Amino acid sequence: MTRTVYLNGEYLPEDEAKISIFDRGFLMADGVYEVTSVLGGKLIDFEGHAVRLQRSLDELEMQHPSSRDDLLEVHRELVRLNDITDGMIYLQITRGSAGDRDFAYPSKDTPPTIVLFTQAKPGMADSPMAKTGMKVISIADERWGRRDIKTVQLLYPSMGKMMAKAAGCDDAWMVEDGAVTEGTSNNAYIVKGNTIITRQLSHDILHGITRAAVLRFAAEAQMQVEERPFTIEEAQAADEAFITSASTFVMPVVEIDGAAIRAGTPGPVAARLREIYLDESRKAAL
Ligand code: PLP
Repeated sequence: MTRTVYLNGEYLPEDEAKISIFDRGFLMADGVYEVTSVLGGKLIDFEGHAVRLQRSLDELEMQHPSSRDDLLEVHRELVRLNDITDGMIYLQITRGSAGDRDFAYPSKDTPPTIVLFTQAKPGMADSPMAKTGMKVISIADERWGRRDIKTVQLLYPSMGKMMAKAAGCDDAWMVEDGAVTEGTSNNAYIVKGNTIITRQLSHDILHGITRAAVLRFAAEAQMQVEERPFTIEEAQAADEAFITSASTFVMPVVEIDGAAIRAGTPGPVAARLREIYLDESRKAAL
């Protein structure tokens, strides 16, 4: 089935949506993005994604082509036009095209490019991996220094996923100066007793929207949260490990660099947080 996508104010069949070869997203990875999940035809954590999008644009002195309300409307219209029950909406904004290649930013009146498309993922919240858990390897974090800006420079995370796949694993946790930063497309956590440990916010990691919600729910459920760096060795000796992201929600990790966590079985804290996150986010979905 041909999807209907959104490009610069128009809803178009996917094969009719075209952008310039001079678009800076294509030439310079000069663009930012968001991925919002859809469950039961409704948007999960839309507000958080809209706020982070604005922050990414501001950090890069890029114009926002759309208001929050218009953006919400476009998301909802794409869900409707593509009949999405469960899945994701991908949004990308680039600095647009000035009709040539130049390192310098084009003038402020160059219109940004905005693209949105849907990805149907029926039964997305019932992923079998939530029951079995995932295996990760560790790799060096070789990304740029502003990982808090959600840019489309995803080559190193792609390489990380390929390294994980080659090792027979599901993902990679990145390590810098001896401590885990985050997963290739998710935030990383360990659990020790009643304490959830995850790296503090800084330029070193993406400020996950799911992370913010999960830490809030954890605190409400009287769990202790410690925001600090942790090592792979500490993670391997932890009671539990898990990741969060908009598309995986909360997903248990049962093996790190070949060492089993909890004898290779998902733990109760990850399971509980997943349940709370899914319940609460569905209730608040737009
Ligand atoms: N960290 C990185 C590097 C990511 O790419 C992502 C999501 O794409 C996340 C964390 C999780 O962020 P969110 O919960 O907002 O999806």
